[in-house]
Amino acid sequence: MIRGTLYIVSAPSGAGKTSLVAALLKARSSLVVSVSHTTRQPRDGEVDGQHYHFVNAEQFLGMIEDGAFLEHARVFDHYYGTSRAAVEAELERGLDVILEIDWQGAQQVRRLMPGCQSVFIVPPSRDELRRRLHTRGKDSESVIERRLGEAVKEISHFDEYDYLVVNDDFDRALAELVAIFTANRLHTRPQRHRHEALLRDLLASGEANP
Ligand code: GDP
Ligand code: ADP
Ligand code: 5GP
Repeated sequence: MIRGTLYIVSAPSGAGKTSLVAALLKARSSLVVSVSHTTRQPRDGEVDGQHYHFVNAEQFLGMIEDGAFLEHARVFDHYYGTSRAAVEAELERGLDVILEIDWQGAQQVRRLMPGCQSVFIVPPSRDELRRRLHTRGKDSESVIERRLGEAVKEISHFDEYDYLVVNDDFDRALAELVAIFTANRLHTRPQRHRHEALLRDLLASGEANP
């Protein structure tokens, strides 16, 4: 079994990371997204265990003490963290795993998992970021202002990432993400395992050769 690749996807809130990752999952098999733990309140329509594991601060701090997180960070006054065991199990099963996490979490994961690949997504303009946060319609005005205020800080870390995608036209941004994931699957190291029999056959100095 070839171990899966770990991907990090970060973006300022509202840039479209969750929508793009959801579309990417539909386009590819053997790819899963890690479900984070968070202490923020569920939004309308968010399902516990599917979008996030929603926990209280006491439970979250207990998990930190137990070493349950691969990474964790405080974002917009809430705790967010990635379960170490869940990610490890999926990578071991040969699945590629996406972490939708902020820049602080990304720095921690890069240190622990040097083979990971990271993608940063930006909106086409400040105005469009504001518009998307409003049209998403899931956050209060004060939460939106807070998130816009933090956007510059998040974006200032763009050059720590391997890839940069501008999410202007959705389908184009999705095609670019697919290209990143496809290119990574074609690296020689995993390919030589997948195509071991073919390569052995092609390299054999068969009697059939003139
Ligand atoms: P959205 O990105 O606007 O949909 O807002 P969320 O509330 O889902 O996420 C808020 C912030 O927390 C974003 O910057 C996420 O990347 C980050 N985040 C979400 N889950 C995690 C996690 O498990 N670990 C870390 N470090 N950050 C996370
Ligand atoms: P994030 O997870 O980065 O906070 P979302 O995926 O929730 O962002 O997207 C924020 C809003 O912007 C959603 O209402 C989504 O439908 C919309 N959106 C995402 N990408 C685009 C795009 N390329 N063009 C127009 N609207 C978009
Ligand atoms: P939201 O509250 O809008 O779902 O997420 C806000 C931000 O938290 C997003 O930018 C998202 O990337 C980040 N985030 C979500 N889950 C995690 C996580 O597990 N770890 C870290 N570090 N950030 C996260």
